[in-house]
Amino acid sequence: MENEAVTRAALDYQGILEQVAADVAPQIGGGRPAEYIPALASVDPRRFGMAVADIDGQVHGVGDWREPFSAQSITKVFTLALTLARGGEELWAHVGREPSGNPFNSLVQLEQEQGIPRNPFINAGALVVTDHLQGLTGDASSELLEFLREESGNPGLAFDQEVAESEAAHGDRNAALAHFMAAYGNMRNPVPTVLHHYFWQCSITLSCADLATAGLFLARHGVRADSSRLLTLSEAKRINAVMLTCGTYDAAGDFAYRVGLPGKSGVGGGIIAVIPGLCTLAVWSPGLDSRGNSVAGVAALDRFTTLTGLSVF
Ligand code: GLU
Repeated sequence: MENEAVTRAALDYQGILEQVAADVAPQIGGGRPAEYIPALASVDPRRFGMAVADIDGQVHGVGDWREPFSAQSITKVFTLALTLARGGEELWAHVGREPSGNPFNSLVQLEQEQGIPRNPFINAGALVVTDHLQGLTGDASSELLEFLREESGNPGLAFDQEVAESEAAHGDRNAALAHFMAAYGNMRNPVPTVLHHYFWQCSITLSCADLATAGLFLARHGVRADSSRLLTLSEAKRINAVMLTCGTYDAAGDFAYRVGLPGKSGVGGGIIAVIPGLCTLAVWSPGLDSRGNSVAGVAALDRFTTLTGLSVF
């Protein structure tokens, strides 16, 4: 405890972020924005922002850290947390917790494994989580938005209708995944309802500052901004563990190797990463690598943990 306090007091987050931004500057603009959702394809790949929120809620940032971007798959962490908090362990009968080693929207594995997705962070698994959250709340996407507003302290967070509609119009693959699981009896609500909430959930826009702050309950071992407990210690540990092993598509091994933190990325170019007991990091840069992770975002987290020596290992 004493050591932790010394370490925290010694951390100059602002200085570190500025150093990270300077070091990764050559990589900003690398990769390509997600093209399969037309509304995301037009975002400038040279944007870059990064924020750190410490467990006391203090936030530091650099670059475009206050600029809203499309959260996309990062929301999967939050729906998982809300579902586990309300429904408990029962979810794990319907979705696994092993890395997939396959692209995030793959259909192949789902057939081999009879409609039980590998983990909650590939699209099929996230659809199952949204389905359960819908069953538990009656309005999964609004429940998520409200939670993000409360945790981030930003009541202005909102859905992006253009992104949600763009995704729905080009959502054949997600529809296929959902129908496929329904055929195996692994969907409780009608497929169109689940898809609607999933697309709207993914469309939420937030900034690095919002995201780092909203994710603090994971650094606080399950405790929310208002000091109430969302998750047990075990549940918070487990979500962080699934983020580490499954949170960055089929590059989770490489992300763990380079960054050494639980993380979750989204095709909007954002990544959230957690240092339990200390802080939450959020980074955004829209250029993606071939696996769907932000090129400059991963590089920045890699640099952050290298400069500070902080990781879960
Ligand atoms: N809305 C996106 C999809 O379902 C999310 C993908 C992602 O961010 O990984 O394809």
